[in-house]
Amino acid sequence: MPNYNLLFMSTPIGALGSGLGGGVELTLSNIAQEMLRRGNKLEIVAPFGSVSSSLPIREIPGELQIPAQNQNRTEPIFIPKNSVLANMWDYARQVQANYDLIVNFAYDWLPLYLTPFFNTPIAHLISMGSLTDTMDHIIEQVANHFPGTIGVHGKTQAATFTFADKCRCLVNGMDLSLYQFCSQPGSHLAWVGRIAPEKGIEDAVAAAKITGIPLKIFGLIQDVPYWEKICQDYPDAPIEYRGFLPTHELQQELGQCRALLVTPRWIEAYPNVALEALACGVPLISYRRGGLTEIVQEGKTGFLVEPDSVQGLVEAIHRLDETDRQACRQQAETTYSVSAMGDRMEQWFEDILTHSPKLKAQA
Ligand code: UDP
Repeated sequence: MPNYNLLFMSTPIGALGSGLGGGVELTLSNIAQEMLRRGNKLEIVAPFGSVSSSLPIREIPGELQIPAQNQNRTEPIFIPKNSVLANMWDYARQVQANYDLIVNFAYDWLPLYLTPFFNTPIAHLISMGSLTDTMDHIIEQVANHFPGTIGVHGKTQAATFTFADKCRCLVNGMDLSLYQFCSQPGSHLAWVGRIAPEKGIEDAVAAAKITGIPLKIFGLIQDVPYWEKICQDYPDAPIEYRGFLPTHELQQELGQCRALLVTPRWIEAYPNVALEALACGVPLISYRRGGLTEIVQEGKTGFLVEPDSVQGLVEAIHRLDETDRQACRQQAETTYSVSAMGDRMEQWFEDILTHSPKLKAQA
């Protein structure tokens, strides 16, 4: 593979390292690390306050964007005054000639709309399924006019769009050396993620209450009133909130858990937390919804239960002895290694650059 100069455009809903960006933060840094390791050059453009000990970040000031998952289907696009999203893309416009490819990690209208106005090709990694009509429309336009440039993580995610056949499925990957396999867990369960209504954590809390098995909770409290209501509704559930932890601490605690409960109310594209749990040898108990249906190997690396059924979670918890922690780690190594992901990404970049009409015109 040739080496490329890549410009990575982060999400404008939060600084890298803040947790506000959800799984996109980890996905972006994993891909960036791997691309650098392979000899590519890159710069990451991200909101002011973004931190990384090892990655080159260009911080851009401005107002953060509202997360798309908090909007109604028919809501118009909202861009604040002095928008960090607009500022980031203005920077990209100015420096684009220095790069072979721009990779967009934001689930936002503006970068998709701007695609035809740029001279440098843009790859869009779409991190969520269909959420609003305006986003569906603009993603489809780019998929039609720039074939092959729309990447997604999973097939179920792609199927939420009417143009699923035009999406390139890239799965996801982790630096598995950062996750330690734990064969002898404690008896407690884990729940990991942003604490927000689309994540349905109240069902995991209800299952902990019914079974009496303690539940450790890790993640950023994004919606404070939502979390306070859960604490009021379940005052005596055996839960412990452990905060938002950096990866090395999270994996240590997560590995000691008996299973990870994954309880999304929405079509979760391809949750990183599920891959991180597998990497530690932790089986998944998840609603049969979204990307989880592509990840869980039934009865081996976890169980898929009827969506929104607390009883289903409870029954699966009682069957955990049937799962195989070694098989969980094995699945992570086979499918979700950072090098497997790097191969998929590099091939995607190469295909885009080979087929880019602008590059062909210059040649
Ligand atoms: N996370 C973390 N520390 C925590 C809890 C969560 O770093 O204490 C990270 C986790 O590693 C994952 C992200 O938060 O990368 C959640 O991403 P996911 O893809 O599961 O869901 P999203 O938030 O994107 O919907």
